[in-house]
Amino acid sequence: MQARVLLVSSEAVPLVKTGGLADVITALAVSLRKLDIDASILMPGYGVAVAHAEADATTAPLQPLALPRDLPGGPARLLRGVMPGTDVPVLLLDTGRFHQRSANPYIDQSGNEFSDNAICFADLAHAAVAICAGETAVPAPHVVHANDWHAGLIPFLLKTAGLNHVASMLTIHNLAFQGNYDWALAGQLGLDRDAQAMSSLEYWGKISFLKAGLQHADCVTTVSKTYAQEILTPRFGYGMEGVLNERRAALRAIPNGIDSKVWNPEADPLLRHSFNVGDMRGKTLSKCDLQDMFGLLPVDPFAPIVGIGSRMSHQKMADVVLQTLPTVLDRHERMQLVVLGCGERSYEEGFLDLACRYPGRVGVHIGYDEERAHALHAGCDMLLHPSRFEPFGLTPLYAMRYGTIPIASRVGGLTDTIADVGMHGPAGRGASGVLFDGETARDMEAAIERAFALHQDAGAWRAMQRNAMHTDFDWQTAAAAYVDAYAAIAATEAKPLFARKAPDARVALEQAA
Ligand code: ADP
Repeated sequence: MQARVLLVSSEAVPLVKTGGLADVITALAVSLRKLDIDASILMPGYGVAVAHAEADATTAPLQPLALPRDLPGGPARLLRGVMPGTDVPVLLLDTGRFHQRSANPYIDQSGNEFSDNAICFADLAHAAVAICAGETAVPAPHVVHANDWHAGLIPFLLKTAGLNHVASMLTIHNLAFQGNYDWALAGQLGLDRDAQAMSSLEYWGKISFLKAGLQHADCVTTVSKTYAQEILTPRFGYGMEGVLNERRAALRAIPNGIDSKVWNPEADPLLRHSFNVGDMRGKTLSKCDLQDMFGLLPVDPFAPIVGIGSRMSHQKMADVVLQTLPTVLDRHERMQLVVLGCGERSYEEGFLDLACRYPGRVGVHIGYDEERAHALHAGCDMLLHPSRFEPFGLTPLYAMRYGTIPIASRVGGLTDTIADVGMHGPAGRGASGVLFDGETARDMEAAIERAFALHQDAGAWRAMQRNAMHTDFDWQTAAAAYVDAYAAIAATEAKPLFARKAPDARVALEQAA
């Protein structure tokens, strides 16, 4: 028998993606299956996700499965299929509410959070528990792996249902999102209002989905070593540092990987030119393609191009970026800027204004666009990726694969994955980017200036590009660490199923404490 793991997430590529979580879930499931773990994914059946899965000609049609219990939001069913482009079984939770949601599954067209998010994601948790209880045609997993607040109720519901044979893990991909709702909703969400619920779920007078998971999961993980330390402090704990400190013994860091097949300059179907660390001619051509794509003039491969590709949010310091860039653009007359992103409307408008102010030098695309993201990583010289906090930070790693040097904040996973040129001395000795402290325009400007100074020195720049392109964050290492962690929490009878898959358990799990 194989060990079975059910990954529960609100998003997964290619069906729906708003951020790094979607990349991580599918890549992890694929990698676990390579380690002979029977990993599958349970996610909401958003209209777009169902349509995408149905349109995939390579897989069989979605198979409806009954869900015998009603969920808080009403009756529902599962649609069983295969994640397009992979061999990972996927279960889409088909409810009327989820079905109505499209590309951004969390907010409506005016940018407000959907008013029934609590019910929708309580539905997801109750459906997961029904599967764990063996109520559906899907075999119950040995471990349920809940991701972020959307799946946070699962560990709590498993415990209260007495389903102790299914172990639970909660992974924090972003602690700032917590799913905190009015306590008055408890009954509607299928939550008892007893004392246990109170101490498990209550967060400043509200119900917290995330806290429910943090309190009750058998193991809590997060996605980088530094973030695992940071979230124990008030600055990064977003009010959860107390709970996390209490659960310190159960907290582990398992750094993410990246999909080096999808992000590969040697064979990227979304690019016209390929390149590698030994032959960068394709990067020069990709710079021109990018200039063309974003209307930059002149189309000159020697113009330094800075790129930004991220959610436009306070977390990603969009406010400080908008303050800083005019000074930098005025100082460096040949510099060009490419911006790809979407998010808070005021920031989107700020970037569009910048493009009007610097015609031909600043190209902005507001939206979510995979093809442009690949073009940006391939064609830029530098990626500006500031963050007030960063659990892992996939984007700079993608850029590095394409020889694009990140300028990033020294926080969270960025600290662990980018080797700062300042710390590593001359660029030849392992440096792969520029890290900076602080959240002011002056801090950011100084970091950009450091990068520009290095860019003047062709030898140093080339050495940094080589280091960046050789940086290896393979998913197999991360997946093996997850298998170790699953083995540690699985019920006694199931342990050997996991232990066999990671016989030497050499992948050290970093204890946060
Ligand atoms: P976060 O999860 O906090 O948004 P990450 O850098 O870890 O940050 O992951 C972001 C993911 O979303 C990356 O895969 C990045 O390429 C992608 N992404 C963000 N904004 C866009 C966009 N506008 N178009 C295409 N991809 C985007």
